Amino acid sequence: MNSKPSGETKGNILVVDDQLDNLRLLSTMLTEQGYKVRKVTNGHLALDTAQVHPPDLILLDIMMPEIDGFEVCSLLKADERTREIPVIFLSALNETRDKVKAFKTGGVDYISKPFRFEEVLVRIENQLSMRQLSLQMKEQNQKLQQQIRDRICAEVALQNLNRELEIRSAARAAELRVAHEQLLESEAKLLRALAQEKELNQFKSRLIAILSHKYRTPLTTISSSAEILKKYRDRFTPEKQLKHLQRIQGSVKYLTSLVNELLFLDQAELENITLNPVPLDLVEFCSERVEELQLTDGDRHVIQFTHQGHCTQGEWDERVLEQILTILVTNAIDYSPNGGVIDFQLSCQDDAVTWQIKDQGIGIPKENQARLFESFYRASNVGIIQGTGLGLAIVKKRVDLYKGKISFHSEVGVGTTFTINLPLAKTNPPPHQPIMNYEL
Ligand code: ATP
Ligand code: MG
Repeated sequence: MNSKPSGETKGNILVVDDQLDNLRLLSTMLTEQGYKVRKVTNGHLALDTAQVHPPDLILLDIMMPEIDGFEVCSLLKADERTREIPVIFLSALNETRDKVKAFKTGGVDYISKPFRFEEVLVRIENQLSMRQLSLQMKEQNQKLQQQIRDRICAEVALQNLNRELEIRSAARAAELRVAHEQLLESEAKLLRALAQEKELNQFKSRLIAILSHKYRTPLTTISSSAEILKKYRDRFTPEKQLKHLQRIQGSVKYLTSLVNELLFLDQAELENITLNPVPLDLVEFCSERVEELQLTDGDRHVIQFTHQGHCTQGEWDERVLEQILTILVTNAIDYSPNGGVIDFQLSCQDDAVTWQIKDQGIGIPKENQARLFESFYRASNVGIIQGTGLGLAIVKKRVDLYKGKISFHSEVGVGTTFTINLPLAKTNPPPHQPIMNYEL
């Protein structure tokens, strides 16, 4: 049996009994064993005391006046503040049903009177240690539950953090992807710009070489004819003088057409070009152009001009028609061997005009034909024949402007025929309309 450790109490016990002798006896003995004891003599006092200062255990008599032990126990168990206090019944009632009722109302033990104190003590200790254990378990349970709650909170926080990280990393990845794409795009742009610049530089050098070559021949013609006229004009017949003057004129015309082609290289200049349609006798116009071209070409080729139909209706922009004609006939000359014959046919219908320029030149390989109207495109068989690859692109744009059609038929080694069909005035564009945006 435990004795009271000095300075400590083994527990608070409330003893409830209306028999004062019992009360005193139990109180003395329990106090001696180191318990702190409070004593009350009826149920009401027991309830009040237990509610104000809950004891660790209650020893409860059953048979008491006013309210008996069963009822006191029931009321204790019904109250939140006192529900957990273990109640041991002490009673002279020895019937089994009383004992059963005692346990049913919430008692944890039952001691029959008269009792032996050792038994009372053991049962008290037993209940107190069980209560102690239960309190510890409850506390541990609460701690465990708190830990579980903390862990759940931590997990939720972790999940949120993960989600946030995922969102951030997805956003960052998207940003990086966009930046990468932009980088690739700028790289591609840069490469394109570099390629364009390289191409432009090559084109410039090519153009300078071609132009100087193309300018030299007519300039030589002008210079030699002028020189001859200066020295020998007195000895020349008027016809011969005229022939030299016409050669000079033809070369100047040719140079002018070259300058016109050059203007196509200047975008701003192109955008400002306007059409100037005027009534035109096409037969007269074409004969004059052919004559000039023949003069420029000298005796190297024969240009034959034929026409059919009435060619005096319609309004045309002379400059545009001249450009088309000059480019096509010049091509026929450039790509034909010396001595070749060039046929130029003009055919005028009621609502359209057809030009056909036929040569017996080198022809255009089949595999090059599809891209022939692209700027700078030249066929693979041009050899050392100089050219910029711009002429046909210009002609195509001009024909499109008139809503006309251009086609060609060509065989390598046999010759080439270009056919142009231009509708008459009703479909001609109105005056002062910008001609086109020529893209180089
Ligand atoms: P330029 O612009 O100085 O006239 P180019 O003659 O090369 O140069 P285009 O007149 O546009 O350019 O002609 C494009 C290409 O079409 C020529 O390089 C040539 O290969 C081919 N071509 C055009 N006309 C004829 C033709 N009558 N016979 C053979 N090939 C031709
Ligand atoms: Mg050409």
